[in-house]
Amino acid sequence: MKAQPTASHFVDGAYLEDAAGTAIDVVYPATGEVIARLYEATPAIIERALTSAARAQVHWATRPPVERARILRRAADMMRERNRELSELETLDTGKPLQETLVADATSGADALEYFAGLAPTVTGETIPLGRDFVYTIREPLGVCVGIGAWNYPTQIACWKGAPALALGNAMVFKPSEVTPLSALKLAEILVEAGLPAGLFNVVQGRGGVGGALISDPRVSKVSLTGSVETGKKVYAIAAAGLRHVTMELGGKSPLIIFDDADVEDAVGGAMLGNFYSSGQVCSNGTRVFVQKGIKERFLSRLAERTQSIRMGDPLDEATQMGPLVSEAQLEKVLGYVRKGQEEGARLVTGGGRGSVNAGFYLEPTVFADVTDNMTIAREEIFGPVMAVLDFEDEEEVVTRANATEFGLSAGVFTRDLARAHRVVAALQAGSCWINAYNLAPVEAPFGGVKLSGVGRENSKAAVEHYSQIKSVYVGMGAVEAPY
Ligand code: NAD
Repeated sequence: MKAQPTASHFVDGAYLEDAAGTAIDVVYPATGEVIARLYEATPAIIERALTSAARAQVHWATRPPVERARILRRAADMMRERNRELSELETLDTGKPLQETLVADATSGADALEYFAGLAPTVTGETIPLGRDFVYTIREPLGVCVGIGAWNYPTQIACWKGAPALALGNAMVFKPSEVTPLSALKLAEILVEAGLPAGLFNVVQGRGGVGGALISDPRVSKVSLTGSVETGKKVYAIAAAGLRHVTMELGGKSPLIIFDDADVEDAVGGAMLGNFYSSGQVCSNGTRVFVQKGIKERFLSRLAERTQSIRMGDPLDEATQMGPLVSEAQLEKVLGYVRKGQEEGARLVTGGGRGSVNAGFYLEPTVFADVTDNMTIAREEIFGPVMAVLDFEDEEEVVTRANATEFGLSAGVFTRDLARAHRVVAALQAGSCWINAYNLAPVEAPFGGVKLSGVGRENSKAAVEHYSQIKSVYVGMGAVEAPY
């Protein structure tokens, strides 16, 4: 199987190669096979990416918003037309099953392009009357933005950052994760084919060093990172040295609270979606599942039954519901947590093994019950298909325990008592919450975290704030009264 792109980078409207960079081997997680070899961006590539972005942005910022919108809209249509091809590539890059990639990756990327295309022409300033004089405001682009992606949703992340940046008149230099470098190149290709002027969306490959080099450059005004908290702190520090704008979409250990009166099937379905989709490699996953004592046995027995019937296997087979983890390193990390769970006394309800699939980085969907708050699997982000089920007695207790974490990305509540649902959600420290649902992230809704889970918001009208700045213009309408 091969997925070799034309070249490693896409800069100034065309593919670009420089084999002097350190090699990046792209591995298909279902087999461990190397499917492409790319090269990290050298200083020369980084320079070309930033120079062309800075040059192109000056002109782009002067284009009427409807013109920018038309191009993004066209790109969205093209992504939908090519959904199958893009989904297959995403599956090869990430190992996520085609059943998911066909509905969750290029399609959600297209949604972002379409949404921000629609929003762009509605962004206006205001007039502030001051009697004789007045002030008006103009919302201006930031300039050159850097996007840095994680490996779990490569297409979606590139679009969630690229679409608002471009819609508001910025240029973007995007560095995908070195683990999944392929699909952002396709996005760059599509944008140019849709009419985006060269240089406005450049893709450069590399590990952390390339990301650092991009952010440190004085021509860059903003960085938006999707990644771990640890990386977030480093990237934030580099950005702070140059006072750049930041958006940080980081990790989580989100609580999902299931009250006695919840619909069992819905609650089990929500918990499974919030722990097993994309083999559990979703930042907003509800990995601490707090279950009230009265529903515990019914919940666990249906959860075990439904989890054991998940079909794991070849990601390219559309009947497959769960693929491998993204890499061998991630598999080892997650297996380490499974061992820790057992050592620290959690009860393994189901899973924990590699399953019947021989090659590839597979791990069975795993459920631990009788987990307590201080166990490692209840405190640290695992980023794999490992659910921790904890018991609780009452509302006040569960809210306190749910908030007792340094993370604050997401949270969910399952109950038929809607007054309680809203009361609990109001008390939870999280940026994105769900009531009787989990992990749905439509582009219309703001997405992001509080506490160590992030800074700023992606998607929705909130993203306008993060990809533009206000110029305030005071207009004097009369004589200047100087006291000198
Ligand atoms: P990671 O932090 O290892 O890497 C993220 C990106 O940062 C990669 O592109 C990497 O090359 C780059 N990077 C690493 N060090 C850097 C440095 N010093 N300077 C600049 N760039 C650097 O994360 P990952 O393993 O790719 O992804 C998993 C993590 O991402 C999890 O913690 C997950 O929760 C988080 N995540 C968050 C969201 C969200 O929206 N909140 C979404 C997906 C994933």
